[in-house]
Amino acid sequence: MFQKLHILDEKDPRIRKKSVPYEGPLTKEDRDLINRIIKHLTYSQIPEYEKKYNLRPGMGLAYPQVGINKRIIVIVNEYQQGKFEEFVVVNPKIISHSEEMIAAEAGEGCLSVNREIEGHVPRFARVTVTGYDMDGNYIKIRAREDLSIAFQHEIDHLDGILFYDRINKKKPFFTENEIRLI
Ligand code: ZN
Repeated sequence: MFQKLHILDEKDPRIRKKSVPYEGPLTKEDRDLINRIIKHLTYSQIPEYEKKYNLRPGMGLAYPQVGINKRIIVIVNEYQQGKFEEFVVVNPKIISHSEEMIAAEAGEGCLSVNREIEGHVPRFARVTVTGYDMDGNYIKIRAREDLSIAFQHEIDHLDGILFYDRINKKKPFFTENEIRLI
């Protein structure tokens, strides 16, 4: 049975708290929660289920968004129409990144931000992320474009940072000459 997640709004103080590293192997409870997050994110990107369960589409979620200030992120990326790949990273770290910056042309959205915020969020075009998978294996992921943005957005959550914190208030929009818009 599908159980919709309760996702915290930005007004909840837990969203702004810095998360601590996850210690030790994942508990059964956390495995179950992560699987629920994966299902929720996947369903939210399938129009039929999105409508049926009244979900807001989203490709990523960080633990603080479900009220737990521990360093775990989940990303479900539709890499091809109807095909999804999942990334669960425990204690993720960006160990290197491109010089090149990009921004999502339409701006970013967040399942904890329930209002329209306009502006370009500058992000690294490519990042290398390390961390641990659900079984405690060390993993290294190279992400580019959309996926790179998603990793940076989710890892920011672990430090209490929301996407709009990175929008320049005086000049919220870039031109194509200033940053590559994707
Ligand atoms: Zn978010």
